Amino acid sequence: MKNRKLLMIPGPIEFDPAVLSALGAPTTSHVAPNFIEIFGQALERMRKVFLSEDGQPIVLAGTGTLAMDTAACNLVEPGDRALVVNTGYFSERFTAILERYGCKVDQVNAPVGGRPTLEEVEKVLKSGDYKLLVVTHVDTSTGVINDIAGLAALSRKYNSLFLVDGVCAVAGEELRMSEWGVDLALTASQKAIGVPPGLALLVAGKRAIAAFKARKTPVLNYYADWTNWLPIMEAYEARKPAYFATPAVNLVYALNISLGQILEEGMGARFARHIALSRACKSGMRAMGLGQVPTRPEFAANTLSAPRYPQGLDVAKFLPAVTNAGVILAGGLHPAIKTEYFRIGHMGACTISDILATVGAVERGLAESGYTVPESGVAAALNAYYQA
Ligand code: PMP
Repeated sequence: MKNRKLLMIPGPIEFDPAVLSALGAPTTSHVAPNFIEIFGQALERMRKVFLSEDGQPIVLAGTGTLAMDTAACNLVEPGDRALVVNTGYFSERFTAILERYGCKVDQVNAPVGGRPTLEEVEKVLKSGDYKLLVVTHVDTSTGVINDIAGLAALSRKYNSLFLVDGVCAVAGEELRMSEWGVDLALTASQKAIGVPPGLALLVAGKRAIAAFKARKTPVLNYYADWTNWLPIMEAYEARKPAYFATPAVNLVYALNISLGQILEEGMGARFARHIALSRACKSGMRAMGLGQVPTRPEFAANTLSAPRYPQGLDVAKFLPAVTNAGVILAGGLHPAIKTEYFRIGHMGACTISDILATVGAVERGLAESGYTVPESGVAAALNAYYQA
């Protein structure tokens, strides 16, 4: 471990050793009794992590984009309408996927770093017959978080299915599927769920499943079609063998371990830890004179930070200098501001030590790139973490 750099990008993240060691376990058959038990347990645990009482968990070999593709192809019939709350790069991706399946998509937009207000969303939602309301919980390109409870209430009022891209949020940001009325939430393994890349994870609530069952046209994607997958997920949960396409056996072992750890921490404690880590990181950046992409503090996610480069910084030198100081960070992603900011992921197994190492490495990187910090970030981060 000594020669390793700390990986602090918004996914893949650092993984717990017990999770990683599951990847090296002997691979069993996908219908071996031990695997059926593990997969069944993982499905039950997913429901608890997504805080869904009666949703259908679905685990596929793939990534977050496949989870988005799966949600779209199963819930869209050509000619259906969707309203996308657009907060950046991944909302644009969801729009493109929905359109691929013949959906007519409208967007409510906001300036980069902002988010549409509930009033703005409601105005458009009430004007059209939208089958779907789609939002990115945390847009990884801007670090902006959306008001999921508020949007869920709007979707209920106007009778739209509410889909949440939770790829950079689930198991880090508060999400209460049943209580808030979220119809489908999805994520990928490599983020706050804490498992190496390779799994697409979804929980579909009762209304989403009913909408799927009421389809009049076939699903326009063979692999992701729930007609193939629902019986498989139901079988594993009933501890029965089933096959449609080979599950990623070792990743499912790893998923079950990580979900167990998440539930042991407790969802409330986990959300609170992510808030404290985020507060520490953002306070460190602020003390060093760095602004952030989210235009208001309440728009800023807890799973990542998106600090803006300060004036006078030699941007080309900065990230390599941070890497030299032991921490790997991500550059900008949103096309409109790509060269103006960088991104720090702090989710999953992340600890305050990781945040302090990161803030310290950023401080070093700033100094090496020609910027003098007004105040040290590390003390500010530490104080903010332990503030009540
Ligand atoms: N949505 C969001 C919010 C994301 O952050 C990502 C990945 N960064 C995706 C979707 C796509 O996930 P993947 O890269 O696993 O396909």
